[in-house]
Amino acid sequence: MRRLPIYFLIDVSESMVGEPIELVQEGMSSIIKELRTDPYALETVYISIIAFAGKTQKITPLIELSNFYAPKLPIGGGTSLGIALDFLMNDIDTAIQKTTMEQKGDWKPIIFLFTDGNPTDRVDSVFERWNQKYRSKTNLVAISLGDNTDARLLGRITDNVLMLKNTDAESFKKFFKWVTASIKTTSVSVSATSDDGLHLAPITNGYLSKIDLEKYTNSNIDENFAVILGKCQATKRPYLIKYQKRLAPSEFSDFVKNVLEYKLVGAYPIDNNYFDLSEAVKSSKTINTAELNGFPNCPCCGNPYGFSHCGCGNVMCTGEAEVNRCPWCNIEARFSAGTGSLNITRTRG
Ligand SMILES: [Zn+2]
Ligand SMILES: [Zn+2]
Repeated sequence: MRRLPIYFLIDVSESMVGEPIELVQEGMSSIIKELRTDPYALETVYISIIAFAGKTQKITPLIELSNFYAPKLPIGGGTSLGIALDFLMNDIDTAIQKTTMEQKGDWKPIIFLFTDGNPTDRVDSVFERWNQKYRSKTNLVAISLGDNTDARLLGRITDNVLMLKNTDAESFKKFFKWVTASIKTTSVSVSATSDDGLHLAPITNGYLSKIDLEKYTNSNIDENFAVILGKCQATKRPYLIKYQKRLAPSEFSDFVKNVLEYKLVGAYPIDNNYFDLSEAVKSSKTINTAELNGFPNCPCCGNPYGFSHCGCGNVMCTGEAEVNRCPWCNIEARFSAGTGSLNITRTRG
């Protein structure tokens, strides 16, 4: 039986922390559950999951549906699309069976690329390698989760660039149904007619749209999120504090009607493998605390102050005790409620 390999290349950068990564995880489970009830898919579909942030990690090697279990997705720092695509090409070289005189190889692999931001690494030479050798032998569908990506950049590696406009639970649900339907139609078409072209399911209701790359102009691509890395003093576990940019009415001026601010979305514990998946170079982007609206408790130990700033430059949690030990630099210091504003390092997203 010839296999239909499906790759999911998933951006797990910091801006995905919280609801988006959970929704993608649920979505993956729903795809698998649904495909297992489909006789064509069950016979042909093999699935692999590759996650990327600053670095890339193979979460699941190409495996048949019946043996696949949707894994927990990690979070890392950065969005190295170049490294991820390189990784994928190397995997295709080793995992995909080529057609030879003796045997028919695998059907054309389908790759679903999910990303919510722009690459933080260099992509030119990788894109060239992709376009010369892999593009025509695969079906790549690039999906922007939210409107924070550069569709023209994604358009350099595929004609199929789609955008999921809203990233709420309902939109994600519909979107993953669409992914499932697209896999089903392709698995029917390879089984029935040996045609391994891409057969995407129709898009209805407008929650998802195909980008017309001819007409697409680079509208102001701006980062919607600011994410700050903290570490828990009690548990030594890292966590991410996520803020979303929004326009808020000005409290001070009648002339300036709206000011930009970052509103707290939440704080989320993450695993220590965050550091394995992150770029080695620390981000040089900062954000001023005066722009932030809302400060969280520690999501790991419940300490009331999740956004305390140590002299070493890092963010940690503190409790009511006057003296605290920084989990980053291990120095004991007195903390007091901050007055005035200061610049805090943001993650690379
Ligand atoms: Zn804590
Ligand atoms: Zn410190």
